[in-house]
Amino acid sequence: MKCPAEIILYMHEYLDEEISAEHEKELRAHLQNCKECQNHFHELKKTIALVQSTSHIQAPDHFTASVMAKLPKERHKVGVQRWFR
Ligand SMILES: [Zn+2]
Repeated sequence: MKCPAEIILYMHEYLDEEISAEHEKELRAHLQNCKECQNHFHELKKTIALVQSTSHIQAPDHFTASVMAKLPKERHKVGVQRWFR
């Protein structure tokens, strides 16, 4: 089965809780028929659950500073956003 490209996009919209009812309907309909996308969606959800389950753990005070120190200066902002979102 050929997967529509927007299905992956809908998965991200869904996980960001920004999906419209219409997109969600399409996503669900596709997932019912597509094992490959089910697996992909499952992996995405697992990754997000992992990030959420560890996000309440306080990083040591020096952790952020040492991460920052390792980043090239101009990439501080994007790097931190990517890791701590
Ligand atoms: Zn698919």
